[in-house]
Amino acid sequence: MIELIDVTKEYSKGIAALNGVNLYVDQGEFVFIVGDSGSGKSTLIRLILKELEPTDGTIIVNGQTLNTMKHRRIPLYRRGIGVVFQDFRLLKDRNIYENIAFAQRVVEKPARVIKKKVPAALSMVGLAQKYKSFPKELSGGEQQRVAIARAIVNEPAILLADEPTGNLDPKNSWEIMKLLEEANERGTTVLVVTHNQEIVNEMRKRVVTMKKGVIVNDKRGGYR
Ligand code: ADP
Ligand code: MG
Repeated sequence: MIELIDVTKEYSKGIAALNGVNLYVDQGEFVFIVGDSGSGKSTLIRLILKELEPTDGTIIVNGQTLNTMKHRRIPLYRRGIGVVFQDFRLLKDRNIYENIAFAQRVVEKPARVIKKKVPAALSMVGLAQKYKSFPKELSGGEQQRVAIARAIVNEPAILLADEPTGNLDPKNSWEIMKLLEEANERGTTVLVVTHNQEIVNEMRKRVVTMKKGVIVNDKRGGYR
């Protein structure tokens, strides 16, 4: 499903943010990516999204080799991936319903589909009542739940979350992780970058540990 083969990424010559990374993630897996700040976690996520090009190595996602993908194919490719960031990235001037509907309009979903899917996605994250609210009227935890609803509304095969609980308190962090786990239980492959040791230790998922651009540990269970 996601395969990185000897992937190196240098932002400037001779300084590798990723250094010969090999990673295989099967369809339906839930994987935590942990490691110190600067170890290359976000670089890994951005390479999978094809926001960055590797300096060396091959990346294959859903059977497609990203290195040789045509530029005009990239938007379609990205539509198959839901993304959640630390800072929520909602549209401030649109209400919650519109934030999620927007994700459907860009993929040209018909209005009758949008009318069904947006409330369904909001229900999944427990925010059905808040559809008229604007982002600033919601707590951080609620805003991140909206971001998750937006990420899953198109039923992506892959969900990538880069420090999704970085701005949240422990209770909200748990709620967000549980929503990511539920998406995984519905069949989505999930990669979550996090610093939250307690959650990683308790959830007993596969944990990939990065250090200075290399994977130094990869096993099921707790932190490090
Ligand atoms: P993490 O997400 O684990 O904190 P990153 O992938 O963001 O790590 O960064 C890995 C390394 O690459 C760091 O040394 C960082 O300074 C460097 N880096 C990240 N983004 C850029 C960029 N756009 N330009 C130059 N260097 C970068
Ligand atoms: Mg990062």
